[in-house]
Amino acid sequence: MTGSLFIVSAPSGAGKTTLCKMAVDFFPGLRHSVSYTTRQARPGETDGKDYWFVDDAAFDRMLANGEFLEYAGVFGKRYGTSRKDLETLLKAGYDALIEIDVQGAMNVRKTLDKGAYIFILPPSVKICEDRLKSRSSEAPEEIQRRLRIAVEEIRRAVDYDYVIVNDDLDGAFERLKAVMIAEKARTVNMSGVVKGLLADVG
Ligand code: 5GP
Repeated sequence: MTGSLFIVSAPSGAGKTTLCKMAVDFFPGLRHSVSYTTRQARPGETDGKDYWFVDDAAFDRMLANGEFLEYAGVFGKRYGTSRKDLETLLKAGYDALIEIDVQGAMNVRKTLDKGAYIFILPPSVKICEDRLKSRSSEAPEEIQRRLRIAVEEIRRAVDYDYVIVNDDLDGAFERLKAVMIAEKARTVNMSGVVKGLLADVG
């Protein structure tokens, strides 16, 4: 794998998806690895762009074929990262971003020896709740369930390499960009460049 890998997690309503979209628009070499999910598409979501929306049978087939780098049950639905899709991006030299939950991120950490683990924190749990309500795509019980899980996830932020508080979107995006730029300059992500320079001098 040649590109850099960014693993981004956050509790629901922290603004992770917005920040990740801004990063993909900003960095020409950065691509989303699109996850597979058994949940229904929300209004405005597109198959193949936001997620690959699949039924339980298709998910089971992929699982049986060992196609997932990691997968997890989140809010009663299943979500998984395709090993092949991610490898294709990285081998093509793209940097890849995966948005996954805390359990998924910790499983990737065990499986892969690369990646920068970034946790997006909301400024407060109350703001998470307000953002979830204003999105109004979930029923009230679902919002309460997501909030309870959000608190559990926030406890795991300390296991990540970087924590970004999304207090104001522009400031949070500046910090996310800084993390990504610094990460790309890490020796582990520059070894190909070093080798290339040395190959030139023989
Ligand atoms: P949502 O339904 O709000 O799009 O996502 C719910 C949760 O599932 C979020 O925490 C999101 O990051 C996580 N998620 C999305 N795709 C994946 C994936 O491929 N693997 C795992 N483990 N979690 C995912």
